[in-house]
Amino acid sequence: MEKTTAVLLDSRVEAFLQGGPKKLFIGGEFVESLSGRTFETVNPATGEAIITVYEADKEDVDRAVEAADRAYRDAWSKVTPSERGKMLWKLADLIEEHAEALAQLETLDNGKPIQETRHADIPLAIDHFRYYAGWATKIHGEVIDNSAGTSLFTYTRREPVGIVGQIIPWNFPLLMATWKLGAALATGNVVILKSAEQTPLSAIYLAELIQEAGFPEGVVNIITGNGPTAGAAIVQHSRIRKVAFTGSTEVGKTIMQQASGNLKRVSLELGGKSPNIIFPDADFSKAIPGALMGIFFNQGQVCCAGSRLFVHKKVFDNVLSDMTSYAAQLKQGPGLDESTQIGPLVSNEQFTRVSDYLQKGMEEGANPLTGGKPVEGNGYFIPPTIFAGVEDYMSIAREEIFGPVVAAMPFDDEEQIADIIRRANDSEYGLAAGVWTTDVRKAHKVAHALEAGTVWVNCYNALDAAVPFGGYKQSGFGREMGSYALELYTQVKSIWVNLD
Ligand code: NAP
Ligand code: MG
Repeated sequence: MEKTTAVLLDSRVEAFLQGGPKKLFIGGEFVESLSGRTFETVNPATGEAIITVYEADKEDVDRAVEAADRAYRDAWSKVTPSERGKMLWKLADLIEEHAEALAQLETLDNGKPIQETRHADIPLAIDHFRYYAGWATKIHGEVIDNSAGTSLFTYTRREPVGIVGQIIPWNFPLLMATWKLGAALATGNVVILKSAEQTPLSAIYLAELIQEAGFPEGVVNIITGNGPTAGAAIVQHSRIRKVAFTGSTEVGKTIMQQASGNLKRVSLELGGKSPNIIFPDADFSKAIPGALMGIFFNQGQVCCAGSRLFVHKKVFDNVLSDMTSYAAQLKQGPGLDESTQIGPLVSNEQFTRVSDYLQKGMEEGANPLTGGKPVEGNGYFIPPTIFAGVEDYMSIAREEIFGPVVAAMPFDDEEQIADIIRRANDSEYGLAAGVWTTDVRKAHKVAHALEAGTVWVNCYNALDAAVPFGGYKQSGFGREMGSYALELYTQVKSIWVNLD
């Protein structure tokens, strides 16, 4: 008999999924939406509803702003940096204690393979909170010697922005919540966070852990609902001072316009069409798995996915043939099966969108070496697809597909790297890029010339809480992670004191 590889549901996940609808977390309590409206969240492996969730709207955002405002004035501003750090560390410990439950819930709601949630999403989330727990006690201003007058003493303070709105996507639901909350809380802000309608569950589970970690009520408010209603209410709210958004470039542009009402600070982490360049002197034992992981990790639903693959023409056929045979063997199935290597896309909407791109690629004359057709049946499965015969102008080479689809293109200059750099940079996006070569001079030259917020040399998709991440061009602005994210959530006050 074949050994079962299906994951046995953790009792904490079963308990979490009892009853319903799941509630909004506002002012330290789990509450129904004022309208009473709910929506279903769907298991992408089957297309069936998992549970219903309350749908927040403008009036719930107003309520969350009231709670956050009260928390800011009465509680959070009186909590010492050391205590803030301790709460963040405690939250990381709680996520660690609940790691398996969170991994399963995330996989159930998003579809991604359990091996990925266990080994990437959850550990990265834990590490992220620990990293920012350390920063809470290291935020400081400086004393500045001025030339305005000998008796005038000047110093700066780094103060929180106040009430912050955060809007996150569905591709790494818990991790994106973590990226948003870590820096904002370490620097003393209060937050209203909206999860994506497709994947609300891990954020609600996180709310329970936030409560247990001892954050004063109202410091973190988590709402579930739709972008054009609840999301827009956050973006337009006159008492919210900053909005941080991760998602599509299109919505990012709307957010920037709508945030102008009260001149909210805006930071945007948007889409990408990242070039991944393999030179003929690359170490192929690393470059080939790296290029595969660069596009197929999380079913290609990664903002920095290496979706434009440039391979030198001398090695193009060999590299593509190796990649194709590997991709064709990847085991696709439900995320809650331990042997699954590639899961379904998150939603029917994304399934249709990516299916349309497969069709468009073929109409434009590209040739799928593997994949190319959506999988029939239940769930939102798109097979790993490698397109050859791609030209730079084709839509599959220019537009963000956000699925397991790579556009592979040959290039032929080697020593004069100008041409490949021009092609790599010929994009409205600039989130990330990859370079594979064993020539250290070429590696750095190319890395410096690429218009991207992150360049990976002989690796791909490496991320760490300490290292900044964000976009050039229409991939957005502002840097999350590292010390850079502290800038997003603090404002500098200069203080002048006359000592005479
Ligand atoms: P999206 O619409 O940009 O969604 C991201 C978040 O923004 C969600 O929480 C969404 O709410 C919210 N939102 C949508 N419209 C809004 C508005 N007018 N005001 C305020 N918030 C709003 O992304 P999507 O529709 O899910 O995916 C479409 C494409 O976006 C993908 O195919 C991909 O190309 C790109 N994308 C990029 C990333 C990334 O990491 N850069 C992540 C996800 C998607 P709802 O939950 O109601 O949608
Ligand atoms: Mg949307």
